[in-house]
Amino acid sequence: MRHPPASNIDVRKANRNRIYRLIHSHDGISRPEIAQRLSMSMPTVLLNMKALMEQGLVRESGSLESTGGRKALAMSIVNNARFGVGLDITRDRVVATLVNLAGSVRARREAAIPFSTAKAYVEKVGRVVDDMLAERAVDPGRLVGAGISVPGILSADGAVMTQSHVLGVADYAFAPLDKRLGLPCAHVNDANAAGIAEMWAVDPDGRFVYLSLSNSVGGALVWDGNARLGDNRRGGEIGHMTIVPGGKPCYCGMKGCLDAYCNAAVLGKLTQGDVGMFFDLLRAGNAKAAALWDAYAESLAIAVNSLRMIFDYDIVVGGYVGAHIDRSLDDLRARAARRNTFNEQGDYIRACRHKTEPSAVGAALLQIENFIDSI
Ligand SMILES: [Zn+2]
Repeated sequence: MRHPPASNIDVRKANRNRIYRLIHSHDGISRPEIAQRLSMSMPTVLLNMKALMEQGLVRESGSLESTGGRKALAMSIVNNARFGVGLDITRDRVVATLVNLAGSVRARREAAIPFSTAKAYVEKVGRVVDDMLAERAVDPGRLVGAGISVPGILSADGAVMTQSHVLGVADYAFAPLDKRLGLPCAHVNDANAAGIAEMWAVDPDGRFVYLSLSNSVGGALVWDGNARLGDNRRGGEIGHMTIVPGGKPCYCGMKGCLDAYCNAAVLGKLTQGDVGMFFDLLRAGNAKAAALWDAYAESLAIAVNSLRMIFDYDIVVGGYVGAHIDRSLDDLRARAARRNTFNEQGDYIRACRHKTEPSAVGAALLQIENFIDSI
């Protein structure tokens, strides 16, 4: 048959995709093992492997020990066959990353460019990305697209940032920036992007709540490989849960929001904003740091325990605070345990494993995910 029905093509494409994903998650797997694990015939596996190798997406990476007969060949993905660009836009800085199919960062650039709605801003950000790509001499044909992370709420189609208190902007259209980058662009909230990076670093099928404790507090509900956004794409705006009625003013205009008690700047005020240095002081027994931590950790424990009650998933502490919290994690766990109705010990709380620039990396991974879906 010259033109097989669409359903056959769909099945072939799905098989190819499953094979690619299996090699992606099981580096060095052999063809017979692929056939066995996916319950596919060897001819089907061989045909699809040939196609994937011709596309330059997988390679033979060595021979495996065999108990007799011919040695089986180990298969690996070609990590640098494609790249995604990630851009994290914050109030004062821009971070650009280049991420490959394995999720590894191959290049990065950072520049102090305060956010602005002026045309010149788009050009400056574009140049940061250009410089990064030039440094690695990346073949433009290998770029699958760019992900742009912002500290704000996005429209349903993602084309507009409807609101960002941090950037002081409303109804910001991404089109000029997308056009300047000259790549297919996807847009994502910064905490959701960080949650995606964490998912790649830890557990692709995982379900957890990611709590982003940086200059603002945000979060993401990661569920089966996606950040769940909710009806209005505000899912995970944990920073604006009220934890103290009538309490400290929040930048959003309300009082008593979690953000006012648990953003990273609360700890950083002792050390000119340096959260790592704060934890050094705390460990050294500094009394001011201990008092600050006591108030901070009690507020955080309220939030963490509430999230555990709602979702019953692991809670991942991320952002600047999560990157440094390791040695104070047991203390946070104990505080959360004291509030827990079901006598849980707090071991459901863990520190993020992806500690550097998770939002810029997660934004790039959105495009890597899209590409892998298309294989
Ligand atoms: Zn608020």
